[in-house]
Amino acid sequence: MKDTNKHQGLRNLLVKQLKEKGITDKNVLDTIAKIPRHLFIDSSFENFAYQDKAFPIGADQTISQPYTVAFQTELLQVEKDHKILEIGTGSGYQTAVLCLLGAKVYSVERQNELFKKTKNLLSKLSINVIPKLLSFGDGYKGLPDYAPFDGIIVTAGAPSVPQALMSQLKIGGRLVIPVGENEQIMTLLVRKNETQFEKTEFGDFKFVPLLENKN
Ligand code: SAH
Repeated sequence: MKDTNKHQGLRNLLVKQLKEKGITDKNVLDTIAKIPRHLFIDSSFENFAYQDKAFPIGADQTISQPYTVAFQTELLQVEKDHKILEIGTGSGYQTAVLCLLGAKVYSVERQNELFKKTKNLLSKLSINVIPKLLSFGDGYKGLPDYAPFDGIIVTAGAPSVPQALMSQLKIGGRLVIPVGENEQIMTLLVRKNETQFEKTEFGDFKFVPLLENKN
């Protein structure tokens, strides 16, 4: 599938909507304007790719809504060369956003089918999206071998904040995680020192669940 002027036009409209919904970070908006989201979803949804909606991506999972991607990315405050851990690679769309922002991205996915599909897709995109590592495994455990991280983003709903992820954050680092069972509260934890985290809660979101082990 190609990326055409029509797709670019639809992306510009999506960015306008995201601004109206309160996203202000110019780097985040510019990145969303660049990434061909239609290539990350099944071609039967192509016409809907630039609506601000979540869609099925197989294995009972969804690509996050663009507003959610923008909101979480804004909270993460990504800077160039930041080492970022993403839990829930899924379609790879959020991974691509982080890569284009200049982060060194480590992403974990527990569904083997999605892991393989997305690894293949990201290697074929014409925009420069090169994650440092795509890993098949259980994101509850994080990636201790590559820690500490400047930022950690969880893209599935967690019943509680996994201790392993908190311990893999640098001092000053930010963990963005939706917490809750049926609905989730977007939660930001900023690590103040070895033992203390500052917690801020944002609005309600709806994610597929963060599940343990791999599949
Ligand atoms: N960022 C993705 C979101 C996909 S939905 C996107 O925009 O496409 C959430 C993803 O988290 C799913 O792919 C699901 O399989 C994955 N997931 C759920 N629990 C996980 C875990 N413990 N470790 C890693 N990935 C997990």
